[in-house]
Amino acid sequence: MTITSLTDVLSHALKNSYAVPGFVVLGWEDALYFVKAGEKINQPIILQAGPKCRSHIPIKVLGSMFRYLAENSTIPVVCHLDHGNTVDEIKEAIDCGFNSVMIDGSKLDLHSNITLTSKVVKLAHLNGVCVEAEIGYVGYFKDKSGTLTQPNEAKIFYENTGVDALAVSVGNIHLATTASNELDITLLKEIENLVPCPLVLHGGSGIVEEIRHKVSVETSVCKINIGTEIRKVFGTEIRSFLGKNPEVFDRLEILGSYGDSHMQETIKNISLLRSAK
Ligand SMILES: [Zn+2]
Repeated sequence: MTITSLTDVLSHALKNSYAVPGFVVLGWEDALYFVKAGEKINQPIILQAGPKCRSHIPIKVLGSMFRYLAENSTIPVVCHLDHGNTVDEIKEAIDCGFNSVMIDGSKLDLHSNITLTSKVVKLAHLNGVCVEAEIGYVGYFKDKSGTLTQPNEAKIFYENTGVDALAVSVGNIHLATTASNELDITLLKEIENLVPCPLVLHGGSGIVEEIRHKVSVETSVCKINIGTEIRKVFGTEIRSFLGKNPEVFDRLEILGSYGDSHMQETIKNISLLRSAK
């Protein structure tokens, strides 16, 4: 397999009632272990580079890294830019090899969000790149922010932009450190009835696991972003390894020590969003 479009991966998920995790990458090891885990169970992977990752690693490096992994993998891999904020940022991502982008106009009013997203859709589709956008505002755990998606606005937004996937706010929150959030399933189904494209949930780590499973198999949610859960595995494993091996100083030995746990957690997350739980 090779680099695969977001639409191909998500339309298969929509047709077969499952969802695919969008995995937040922060470095080479993360990206490598995500792909290896996907290969182990022969399932597609979405690699995502968000703002935090891009402030640490140049986007050109990330584009090349994602494409290298995708092109040498045995499974479908999507190379996705998470939370792009401007047309220029999206253009740069496309130039660097990303085949999927998220434009985040969620803090704008409906009209301005439509204007920005439409520009991105036009540019991206001309280049064979898929677009995810957001309507409503998925807030952050720290400041308890967020605005629920209004179904009628989601419909207007979808019809006026032609996005390939739509992120919605239905009780999900970014960066929650425990999986304790319930979702407003009634609201999610109202949106689903008005918007035919695959839906996306950001803040997946904060959603109760049973609910993640339920919406993946019962609704048109086809992509759930996962970051915090995997970061917690990294911190726990590295802390434990260094505690047990105080004499180790080699970077590669230290970073290699969490690979198995990272892959196990990745496989757990992929499997959770499928029927055979
Ligand atoms: Zn997000």
